[in-house]
Amino acid sequence: MTKPSFDDLKDQVCVLTGGAGVIGSSIALGLASVGVKTAILDINEEMAVKVAADIESKTGTITKGYKANVLDKQSLEDVKVKINRELGTITLLINGAGGNSPKATTQIETIDKDNISELEKSFYGLEVEGFQWVFDLNFKGTLLPSMVFTKDMLTAGGGAVLNISSMNAYKPLTKIPAYSAAKASINNFTEWLSVHLAKVGIRVNAVAPGFFLTNQNRFLLVDEKTGNPTPRGQKIISNTPMGRYGEVEELQGTVLYLLSGVSKFVTGICIPVDGGYSAFGGV
Ligand code: NAD
Repeated sequence: MTKPSFDDLKDQVCVLTGGAGVIGSSIALGLASVGVKTAILDINEEMAVKVAADIESKTGTITKGYKANVLDKQSLEDVKVKINRELGTITLLINGAGGNSPKATTQIETIDKDNISELEKSFYGLEVEGFQWVFDLNFKGTLLPSMVFTKDMLTAGGGAVLNISSMNAYKPLTKIPAYSAAKASINNFTEWLSVHLAKVGIRVNAVAPGFFLTNQNRFLLVDEKTGNPTPRGQKIISNTPMGRYGEVEELQGTVLYLLSGVSKFVTGICIPVDGGYSAFGGV
């Protein structure tokens, strides 16, 4: 029996979408630390190239930034040609692009007798376009890269896909109905694709980050004027048994585990990395 290690990941080629973001760039650093050659794809080309160059100079592992739009299949097909030429055959995919929008976020948590006259701040004030945007980015933005980049894994005889879910996939959080439903669809799709690809050696799993303070949620969790936690931010901390936000580096171990052969009999699961949030009943 061989000793478990991440050595099998060395020199594999990984596509990481949304890789210039807060979570993506930390994951990319974790990948480089074990020798994975990563293609950081992002709609923000400048940031993708900068993040990749920083990681390559810190770790010495080949890491390259590319512009790509996860909502445009042709853009993904085009970048795949470049990645194949510059890095090689793709055997790992992390679908990291995702997020919420203020346009699909209610201003109030629940309707009650005090705010019933302000329905525009509730569910009734949301526009379908906000829902469409959030569903596109999270679901279609996982679907299309999965179609394009797992093709190499079919010919290579195997590979691993990792989707990024969220706590709200299990229980929806107040204010963010579109993001919650879209992330629930990611868990369901992870299971579906894992079954579809199991016999060709492609594993499909997900990680569900708990609460990490990032650009996407800062407006909900920190008071812009005072810098203090909002009541929602306080509620999150008190519902996280470990009593704090996560540090993005704390996702790296789970990501490497799910990509490497260490988890070779594991497919179709979603692992929460959440300081105990999903285990806690609130009392
Ligand atoms: P982020 O906004 O920092 O990063 C997202 C990246 O995706 C950005 O660099 C952005 O330019 C890129 N992107 C956006 N649209 C794109 C497109 N059409 N094509 C290609 N790239 C695009 O967000 P983050 O906080 O790092 O989140 C990363 C993932 O983790 C998301 O799926 C998010 O939903 C999920 N997540 C985050 C948290 C959290 O606490 N931050 C919690 C749970 C899940």
